[in-house]
Amino acid sequence: MRPRDLQRYLKDVGWPRSPEPPPQSSHGTVTSETRSDESIDALAKSADGCTLCRLSEKRQTVVFGEGHPRAPILFVGEGPGADEDRTGRPFVGQAGQLLDQMIFAMGFERHEVYIANVVKCRPPGNRDPQEDEMAACAPYLERQIELIAPRVLVALGKPASRRLTGSSKPMGAMRGRWSSYRGIPLMPVFHPAYLLRSPAAKPQVWQDLKLILHRLRSTDGE
Ligand code: URA
Repeated sequence: MRPRDLQRYLKDVGWPRSPEPPPQSSHGTVTSETRSDESIDALAKSADGCTLCRLSEKRQTVVFGEGHPRAPILFVGEGPGADEDRTGRPFVGQAGQLLDQMIFAMGFERHEVYIANVVKCRPPGNRDPQEDEMAACAPYLERQIELIAPRVLVALGKPASRRLTGSSKPMGAMRGRWSSYRGIPLMPVFHPAYLLRSPAAKPQVWQDLKLILHRLRSTDGE
């Protein structure tokens, strides 16, 4: 999207015209980046060729995740779609472009945050991942979260929000409310694919993203 289109888009949905200045990150010393980077790479390699669940049968690529190895924010979606399965990168389709805009509106670039999914292989036909598939993939996500140690986790959509909060509430009841995952503040927000279908919900997402920014700012330096 060209910068002028992006400005118009952000204005239309009530998002800021220029991105928020990013909060300071307490992460990012060279030593910790390097160490964590190496471990994340090793974990990604260990997921390559995984056959722990039936999703491995039809996938083209394991979509492990990507971003800054010590990102302050870790976004967790549900699972790769067709574009992600083909390219091996998370959130590169239409929903991914909207996620990029959400990240930009928060004052970050994509490479400064981390983006992953609950399951690393594409559920056929883009169906929701099933409980046993999410359980089989959980060790990868758990270790990913542990290594990145983000200051905030953002669960995108219902499967990720339910999985990470342990709640079975509808998305409308979870979004915009802080919860926590192993001591890390967790914010469930509507999935960008839902926003493509229901653009009227974009202002609610911006509200939720502002809560995240406020939390990052108020805990800067901790
Ligand atoms: N939707 C997701 O949940 N994850 C992706 O990587 C792409 C689309």
